[in-house]
Amino acid sequence: MSNKKYAIILDDTTCIDCKACTLACKTENNVEAGFFSYRNWVGEIENDQAVFPNIRRKFRPSQCQQCDNPPCVHVCPTRASYQTEDGVVLVDYHKCILCKYCMTACPYDARYESHDKHAIDKCTFCYHRLAEGREPACVETCPPKVRKFVNLLDKQDENTKLLQTEAIEVQKPEKGTKPKLYYIK
Ligand code: SF4
Ligand code: SF4
Ligand code: SF4
Repeated sequence: MSNKKYAIILDDTTCIDCKACTLACKTENNVEAGFFSYRNWVGEIENDQAVFPNIRRKFRPSQCQQCDNPPCVHVCPTRASYQTEDGVVLVDYHKCILCKYCMTACPYDARYESHDKHAIDKCTFCYHRLAEGREPACVETCPPKVRKFVNLLDKQDENTKLLQTEAIEVQKPEKGTKPKLYYIK
């Protein structure tokens, strides 16, 4: 059993919508032309703490939620979609038959059809970089360091401790997918 379970904690109140993360993802992962924000994107949400007329919007960087209970994996008939021991959901492009069941099952619209690979693709947590002891490209590139890449099983890590000390929310918790992108409220 692995002693690692990877996740990302985001403080999106500091996001300035520069889209350096989106560009870094595209460059690092050779994302094809026309798919600029399919794998990593910056949305906007309303700050639900604000009261009219002081309503405020904030940026919300996002990507595949690397769900702990991933419906995309559960529905894949060829096991092309799978979860590594350290909790990262990946696609074996050679096994993908483009049935797109996973795209339908994903509540976060985090998957897309790669015409280059002839397969479904999505954020990999930059798994090739993790193998080299490096952080994901979007984590490293962000000027205000919105994303913190953590190992949930390392309880001594100062960033992992944020999950205990800060108010945290995940996207669409009602879906039961147990996302591993944690947003500081
Ligand atoms: Fe926001 Fe950081 Fe992405 Fe820029 S690089 S858009 S600040 S998350
Ligand atoms: Fe699968 Fe979508 Fe969850 Fe990513 S966000 S693990 S693609 S269900
Ligand atoms: Fe893209 Fe890597 Fe960030 Fe995932 S972890 S959004 S693949 S840069």
